[in-house]
Amino acid sequence: MTAPITSMHIARTADDADRLLSTGTEAVPLAGGTDLLVQRRSGRSVPAVVDLSGLDGDPVTRLENGALRLAATASLTDIAAGLDGRFPALLDAIAVFAAETIRNRATLGGNLATGSPAADTVPALLAADAVVELRGRDRRRQVTMVDFLLGPRRVDLRAGEWIESLWLPAPPGAGGMRKVAGRRAQAISLVSLAWQWELDPHGRRTAVRLAMGAVAPTVVRLRRAEAVLEGAPSTPEVAAQAAAAVSADIRPIDDLRAGADYRRRCAAGLLREVLGDVPPSTPSTPSAQIRSTHR
Ligand SMILES: Cc1cc2nc3c(=O)[nH]c(=O)nc-3n(C[C@H](O)[C@H](O)[C@H](O)COP(=O)(O)OP(=O)(O)OC[C@H]3O[C@@H](n4cnc5c(N)ncnc54)[C@H](O)[C@@H]3O)c2cc1C
Repeated sequence: MTAPITSMHIARTADDADRLLSTGTEAVPLAGGTDLLVQRRSGRSVPAVVDLSGLDGDPVTRLENGALRLAATASLTDIAAGLDGRFPALLDAIAVFAAETIRNRATLGGNLATGSPAADTVPALLAADAVVELRGRDRRRQVTMVDFLLGPRRVDLRAGEWIESLWLPAPPGAGGMRKVAGRRAQAISLVSLAWQWELDPHGRRTAVRLAMGAVAPTVVRLRRAEAVLEGAPSTPEVAAQAAAAVSADIRPIDDLRAGADYRRRCAAGLLREVLGDVPPSTPSTPSAQIRSTHR
């Protein structure tokens, strides 16, 4: 039987949330509830929650030099609308995330805090060099994405802390996210890839950032593949070298959804697809559609 939630507090302000999460009752944050409530049914005991879903604030704030601040407690639908076409990798990730009903509840903070290596918004945030902005009673911390992701279902979130926002440097010229899964909607990623780069006038990629999900204990940067692509011409030979380098960046495992060998082949194939070296095997991501739907 699912253990009951015996205490639920609603935070009206960020200060409320700090106070309510620091009372020593082991209360945990509840945002959209699309993961936490499912975890309870799988046996996780959650005696007390602090509901963050009513916190006010702009989902997306534009800062100096094109940087962005994203509210961790806003729904993915509101984040997509607020991005207004900027940050294509995250827009793509939201477009392939679950289905509209879940996107209307699920949040970036909730997706990140689960520590799932298959969490779909995390590759885009990692590739963007996002900074996680944490707070609790009388404290504020900023942690890079690389340092925040500690292991499977483990993140650098201390007792009483919650994720208030994500800070992102100005998004680059090109970017996107693709996901391989058992079906087009409501499916956990078997492999996912987010990328961003600038293209110089000679067709060379610079500032290359690649991050992959569901192929290691955490979402990972593909550092070796990035090094192959950085400043190199966009040729089939370079694409093949980069795809070969992916294997050294990842540590996939066999699980119920896919075998490690399948994931390795998918990972290399996905990169070749996004480099335009082979035609896409998965349907194109409908991010343009979500952008127009939520404008
Ligand atoms: C039908 C279905 C389909 C799904 N499809 C996908 C999918 O395609 N891709 C995908 O990645 N996930 C998917 N999920 C999982 C889930 O929707 C996501 O992980 C979602 O982003 C969780 O966000 P939430 O706001 O609902 O978090 P919650 O369920 O409220 O919380 C999840 C965890 O994060 C903690 N938390 C929440 N907010 C904060 C915060 N601000 N600071 C600190 N800790 C916090 C909670 O305490 C809890 O441990 C799916 C779930 C369902 C039920």
